[in-house]
Amino acid sequence: MSLAFAQRLAGNAPYETLADVRAVVQSQLPALVDAIDKGTLYPAKFMRAIGAAGAFSSHAEANEDLDLNLAIDAMSEVAEVCGSTSFMTWCQSTLVWYLANTENEALKSAYLARAATGELLGGTGLSNPMKSFFGIEKMKLKGRRVDGGYVVRGALPWVSNIGPDHVFGTIFECADGGKTMFVADCANPDIELLECDPFLAMDGTGTYGVQFKDAFIPDDMVLAHAAMPFVKKIRAGFVLLQAGMATGLIRDSIDTMKKMGASLGHVNKYLTAQQPEDFEAVLDELDTRVRDLASTPYETSEPYWRAVVQARLDAGEATMAAAHAAMLHTGARGYHKSHKAQRRMREAYFVGIVTPATKQLRKMLADMDAQGAV
Ligand SMILES: Cc1cc2nc3c(=O)[nH]c(=O)nc-3n(C[C@H](O)[C@H](O)[C@H](O)COP(=O)(O)OP(=O)(O)OC[C@H]3O[C@@H](n4cnc5c(N)ncnc54)[C@H](O)[C@@H]3O)c2cc1C
Repeated sequence: MSLAFAQRLAGNAPYETLADVRAVVQSQLPALVDAIDKGTLYPAKFMRAIGAAGAFSSHAEANEDLDLNLAIDAMSEVAEVCGSTSFMTWCQSTLVWYLANTENEALKSAYLARAATGELLGGTGLSNPMKSFFGIEKMKLKGRRVDGGYVVRGALPWVSNIGPDHVFGTIFECADGGKTMFVADCANPDIELLECDPFLAMDGTGTYGVQFKDAFIPDDMVLAHAAMPFVKKIRAGFVLLQAGMATGLIRDSIDTMKKMGASLGHVNKYLTAQQPEDFEAVLDELDTRVRDLASTPYETSEPYWRAVVQARLDAGEATMAAAHAAMLHTGARGYHKSHKAQRRMREAYFVGIVTPATKQLRKMLADMDAQGAV
């Protein structure tokens, strides 16, 4: 148990939940990791088990004092063992975040409690909208108003943690440029899930292409008729929650480096600035920064948003650097397919390419600088 984790547990009631999540992770996930990585298992049962332990529920009640740290810490526990499953944990937590913040009480009462406990699984299809808002690509889902709802057409190339009985949040655009955020029910016969070609990692994450074939989306499924103010409200949480994927993977990479010290320390010590203590310092600083930002996810100031974007960029870079260093420390052992070092490196790249990807984050910071926002 890391010192930071022990400190969080000590005398802090909400963190009993973290101990419960950790117990489920440690007892169940190690045996599943290989099958998840190979893509032969989508771990629905495990996701429900951590949901029952409280991994997705600490941010289910939106209020001004809400803090996202417990959700991030739970994800981090998962990420210490498996990057794919920590990504699914983010997908699920993000779905809960959308439902917690909607003003559509019918939608909230239909899905929030079930998603927060893991009974109902699902995710988010916001990569394309998030890229379009920052001028990177065009909106892929188009909608038009009809009686009692909207008709939506188009395709999203990748949505994870889904399946025939899952749901996910996403956004479509109408001809007048207006955007609406809604929950898509994968059981809708006009919403088709398409198999993806194999990935470098993440094949066990229930990832599909999703085609909307003039699917009717009733008003009851709308998170926000006007998506943009809603996105502004949830965007910091969306981004900060991803920190859990990073910190857990960095912790495990540090642990791998340390374990190699006994047999290879005499030569690994020449990996200058790539020592476990170097990454411990990076992790401590990142953890402190994220903890502070995640305690006020509704803050609206531009400096706050810039700090969130910078933290997310730093988290991705530190994850890739730590997994890369662990690979160098393990040498030929880590080059075997049976060793986790190579899996962790493949998983780490995902932290750098999942939306908001490294290049998008750099663009966002450059745009903010150009606009003189801060
Ligand atoms: C395993 C996996 C799971 C994902 N899960 C989700 C999810 O749950 N929800 C979600 O919203 N997003 C998901 N994504 C998308 C992810 O968040 C990023 O958007 C994606 O990795 C690309 O981001 P990028 O900024 O690097 O874009 P880029 O890769 O630079 O550009 C993306 C664009 O390139 C085009 N493109 C990509 N691949 C091809 C190809 N093979 N042929 C032709 N054109 C192509 C597409 O039009 C796409 O819009 C997932 C991606 C992967 C790989």
